[in-house]
Amino acid sequence: MNEVKQEVSKKYNEIIHKQVESKFDLVFPYAALTCFITAIIVMQFEIPKIFAFVNFIMGSILMFLFVLRRRLNVRVKISVTIFLAISIGFASFLDGGFTSSFATLFALGNIVAVLFMSKKYCYRLGILSIVLYFILWLYNEIYLVNTIFYTTPDRFFIQIIVYILYLIMLNVSVSSIKKSLNDSISKLEVTLAHVNKVAYYDTLTELPNLKHFLMKLKALNPKHGAIIIIHLKSLRVINSIYGEDTGDRLLQFFAIELKKFAKEKSLVARHSGNEFIIYCSEVNELKIRSSIDELIYEVSNSVKRFLFDLNLNYFIGFSYVDENEDIDLCYSHAKIALTYVKKYNTGTIYAFDQELLDNIVKEEVVKNTIDQAIINNEIELYYQEKVDSTINKVIGVEALSRWTHEELGKISPDYFIPIVEKMGFSIRYGVYIIEKAFKDYKKLVEIYGKDVTVSLNISPSHLISHKFIDEITSLKNIYNIPNNVIMIEITEGVMIEDFDTVKTRIDMLHDYGFKVSLDDFGTGYSSINYLATLDIDELKLDKEFVCNISTNLKTYIITESLVEIAKKYRISMIAEGVETESQVQTLQKIGCIYMQGYYYSKPKKLQ
Ligand code: C2E
Ligand code: CA
Ligand code: CA
Repeated sequence: MNEVKQEVSKKYNEIIHKQVESKFDLVFPYAALTCFITAIIVMQFEIPKIFAFVNFIMGSILMFLFVLRRRLNVRVKISVTIFLAISIGFASFLDGGFTSSFATLFALGNIVAVLFMSKKYCYRLGILSIVLYFILWLYNEIYLVNTIFYTTPDRFFIQIIVYILYLIMLNVSVSSIKKSLNDSISKLEVTLAHVNKVAYYDTLTELPNLKHFLMKLKALNPKHGAIIIIHLKSLRVINSIYGEDTGDRLLQFFAIELKKFAKEKSLVARHSGNEFIIYCSEVNELKIRSSIDELIYEVSNSVKRFLFDLNLNYFIGFSYVDENEDIDLCYSHAKIALTYVKKYNTGTIYAFDQELLDNIVKEEVVKNTIDQAIINNEIELYYQEKVDSTINKVIGVEALSRWTHEELGKISPDYFIPIVEKMGFSIRYGVYIIEKAFKDYKKLVEIYGKDVTVSLNISPSHLISHKFIDEITSLKNIYNIPNNVIMIEITEGVMIEDFDTVKTRIDMLHDYGFKVSLDDFGTGYSSINYLATLDIDELKLDKEFVCNISTNLKTYIITESLVEIAKKYRISMIAEGVETESQVQTLQKIGCIYMQGYYYSKPKKLQ
């Protein structure tokens, strides 16, 4: 804070100095003009011509100073001016101008000194001028008696009294101007302190704010320790139940405990609305956790004592300070850890690690490039065969997305499809995939025959969108796709979202000549219930069942009953993820003859 204050004061002084300097510079042309006019007047009268000469020289010097004003230091300018004023006084005296001109020019010297020099300097100059006056008087009395330059003692006395009064008046008035200037500066400083407080402190908790915290931490330049951000989860609930005043008081209690906590070894600040930030020099994770537990315990106790009996919920993200990384980076790592713990609800406290950052960076890269990848046709479709295991004949294929990212390499659809959905691109993406598969249909028929069915995975949000049916039917017409060769794979999750809409969509899909498959069957809790109400053509037994079917009796029994149910509803059942001969045999034994999996073929590109 002090640095800022000093910086502002420095700037303020610079401005004043500049103003004074610019005003002072104006003295030169006026003074020079006066000198030149005086020189001309002197030439008109019977006064020694040396006067005109001296005035002319003086005027020239003053003009010279004016021309060089930007290059000369203000002190030099002032000193030269004072010197000139005194010299001209002496010159005028020696050449007959005597006391009056001397007094005038001396006065000018004093004005300049009072305005621009220190008090001490002014007093000295004042005393010096009075002493010189007396010397002048002595000279007058000794050498000038009976000459035309002689000044009578009474006139001299009046002159000196007037001169002293003039000096006093000059000092008093200028001092009052300086005093008012000082008062303004003090007021400015008070305002400045207030501005500083607002800029660097949080008004509710009186804790430093984030800006201040980071500034202090950078100045501290720690080589180890941790930056911890505490997010008070309970605050929103408290605000809505008890009102914002109570929420504010909770924050104040928290701040008080935090200040106590900070006394020993840390810096603390308010991070944002319901977040606080701490730097603590501790490096041991267990100790950090226990200190935080203690802190929360203390806050909870004081909240219980003064407000209400409520357990405080919080999230904490922290990052270790690394001497090779700057504070801003460590701080952003702590923020990332907090975002992570908030997003994935992984307990209450999470320490930043590199893997987390890599994941976040990867997600960001995917987010930023997926849009362009769709436009550039970078995402391809691979097809995996679905086989009738009794005759080893391909009955259909499933279209699966494949994306080879130029920076990240191969990215699994399991990874990027949820991102597509999160970004609200699922409709655009779905249309892209449908069109791609429809374009490939002709080739698929050439390879597998005209009875081949093509399965497409459709995101729930795309399925329930208003335009879905129009889009898929118009593409079906454009690409001349026959009826009942396209199978739309949906997952159970979509029913939970909006069962009625899903039912309508399934019915409409049938009306327009599409088939519907329920993917990942058996993983949800209520899959079987849906079978009674929904018109499903195919059930895809999830990989999880298939991989354990030959080794786990329970899985075997459940799968057997799922196959029974499918038969009862006259729905065809296909097992996915079939990898081994024994899985094939077991599945056949329980009556599931359609299969898909690496045992038969991996998803592959159309040649
Ligand atoms: P899914 O629909 O359950 O697809 C089956 C996944 O299992 C595919 O993974 C496939 O490559 C894999 N798989 C096939 N046979 C085997 C096997 O024998 N063993 C094992 N371990 N895995 C096998 P993939 O292609 O990585 O797709 C993952 C998921 O991504 C898909 O699961 C699907 O939910 C989604 N997905 C893929 N492509 C698309 C798409 O174009 N649109 C949408 N909306 N989702 C897609
Ligand atoms: Ca699927
Ligand atoms: Ca599946």
